[in-house]
Amino acid sequence: MARRRQIYEGKAKILFEGPEPGTLVQYFKDDASAFHAQKKGTITGKGVLNNRISEYLMTRLGEIGIPTHFIRRLNMREQLVREVEIIPLEIVVRNVAAGSLASRLGIPEGTRLPRSIIEYYYKNDALQNPMVSEEHITAFGWAATHDLDDMVQLTLRVNDFLTGLFLGVGISLVDFKLEFGRLYDNDEMRIVVADEISPDNCRLWDMRPVIDRGDGQPVAEPGPMADVYTELARRLGVLPSNVTHSPKPTLIN
Ligand code: C5P
Repeated sequence: MARRRQIYEGKAKILFEGPEPGTLVQYFKDDASAFHAQKKGTITGKGVLNNRISEYLMTRLGEIGIPTHFIRRLNMREQLVREVEIIPLEIVVRNVAAGSLASRLGIPEGTRLPRSIIEYYYKNDALQNPMVSEEHITAFGWAATHDLDDMVQLTLRVNDFLTGLFLGVGISLVDFKLEFGRLYDNDEMRIVVADEISPDNCRLWDMRPVIDRGDGQPVAEPGPMADVYTELARRLGVLPSNVTHSPKPTLIN
């Protein structure tokens, strides 16, 4: 790899200066993401799969008119993206109770929510990404009300689209996180989906058919997915031909 200027290194990705002004190269590492890093470790091959999965999902979103920072995949671990000004928020949308919502509010895991619920978190590792309200966001100037409205509308559209796409491959989209950026085009500013969309920021449950109601009818009962990176890539049809086995976790402490 030619020496390029590194702009940023996160848990799961590195951003390099891109070949043209206004572009960046997003490199996918194997390290567990901040969210999945209960233990520091790597999952061999995860970066290669997330690069493909995110390419696929961002491309599909682009096709239905949802603007994203994605330009094209460059190689196994890198993709070219537009340089955006990252908005310091994590927008989480939930369809089914799980994770921190289930534990915080005492709602049993797996309960379908009456409607999709959006939550905002302030992107700040040192503070462990605290949950914030619209008041905090506008008062501290992280985003203006109209920017936030755009993000919510885009998040709901992404949720509708991905929910359908995943159901088509037997997967329930329990919840996920999006990040957005401001893309400046001459005098115009647009809010676009940034970062990545992959199992690192989605909670995906397998719609496993089980027979347990005594009437012999298979009932789809979602549950956590084993080998979620390989399995999702396989079901979306983007598993690279040289990946024949599941990514193996290597815990280093
Ligand atoms: O842990 P929690 O239930 O709040 O996570 C909700 C969703 O947000 C999950 O799909 C998780 O993958 C995603 N998330 C994330 N990055 C974080 C926190 C949560 O991608 N820092």
